[in-house]
Amino acid sequence: MKTGMDAPFKDAENAALFQVLINTAVDGIIVIDAVGNVRLYNKACERLFGYVPEEVLGRNIKMLMPSPYREQHDGYIDAYRTTGERKIIGIGREVLGQNKDGSTFPMYLSVGEGRLENERIFVGIIHDITERHNAASRLQEVQSELAHVSRLNEMGQMTSALAHELNQPLTAIMNYLRAAQRTVTALDDPAVVRAREMMDKAAGQTTRAGEIIRRLRDFVEKRDARHAHEDVNKTIEEAISLALVGASDANIGVTLNFDRSIPPVLMDRIQIQQVVLNLVRNAVEALQEVSVRELTIKTGLEENGYVYASFSDTGPGLPDEVASRLFQPFVTTKEKGMGIGLSICQSIVNGHGGLLSATPNESGGTTFCFRLPAMDA
Ligand code: ADP
Repeated sequence: MKTGMDAPFKDAENAALFQVLINTAVDGIIVIDAVGNVRLYNKACERLFGYVPEEVLGRNIKMLMPSPYREQHDGYIDAYRTTGERKIIGIGREVLGQNKDGSTFPMYLSVGEGRLENERIFVGIIHDITERHNAASRLQEVQSELAHVSRLNEMGQMTSALAHELNQPLTAIMNYLRAAQRTVTALDDPAVVRAREMMDKAAGQTTRAGEIIRRLRDFVEKRDARHAHEDVNKTIEEAISLALVGASDANIGVTLNFDRSIPPVLMDRIQIQQVVLNLVRNAVEALQEVSVRELTIKTGLEENGYVYASFSDTGPGLPDEVASRLFQPFVTTKEKGMGIGLSICQSIVNGHGGLLSATPNESGGTTFCFRLPAMDA
């Protein structure tokens, strides 16, 4: 069977077909001569390389390659001419192309060898594989993010086990303290009275340590959602104590401006505390970048029946590149960030029938605010 342009077409038809072929091919087609000068450069190449044909025709193909391939290309052609060694001819492989604007892109290049009126020519077909490369590198990113998530998950399990282990010695300390207090309860020697006071303080601190551990376990353990009528201020206060671990070393001034008269809210306390934890940790991290480090947390009731909690920092404000996509997953400017904190916060708040927002402060910094429907709204 005859194919292509041998026959049955006439010369004029052949020429027209040839034009259609090179103008409509999605892949780039380039023909070079034996020394590497470009003889044909189709429409798709204009899109890929940014040059118009006049800028390329008659010039050496290496102008479309980035260094160091550009410098090596003459050598390849010479080596093939003298030794017949094929690096790419008849085979094809992935290489880099260089656009007129200096940017490079990955492409699959296959090269065929032919003859044109006794002259040796090479025909290159260029397939742009930028998309495939982007998808591959995105996949790699997602994989490393998943590895991070599973590491966090392991840490959660370890924290849970550790909390369990620590509970026993804490209970024992508490029992010893109570027994010691009972032993000296009838004595009124001033030294014993002082010792009793100190034991009281020790018992208080032990209770506090137990509370922190209980809260930590609540946070890391997997559990079903539990909705109850909760006091927003108390819920926030509890979460803040965890979230501000290390904040005093960072010289951050925290102001609590709570409206104590707000009505209870139907919520999953642990989930809302996770939101608070995220917002406060983000603020603490943002404040590391500035010298005036203030965080103001406010609660109140809006006229529309929503209870709000706002977290206002004097940090550098939202970076432009994230501002419009803030609540989308995997948006981060932090080297070790995962960019999922705010997206999780938003779905938790929305799941409670509420809203999460971020607004720039007039005097710099950012205010995050969540609103939840109050019980009697
Ligand atoms: P991560 O903290 O892992 O980056 P988040 O979803 O919590 O993920 O935050 C996304 C991005 O939003 C952060 O990387 C940061 O650039 C920005 N951001 C969040 N909170 C603040 C804030 N209080 N001030 C400035 N930028 C913030």
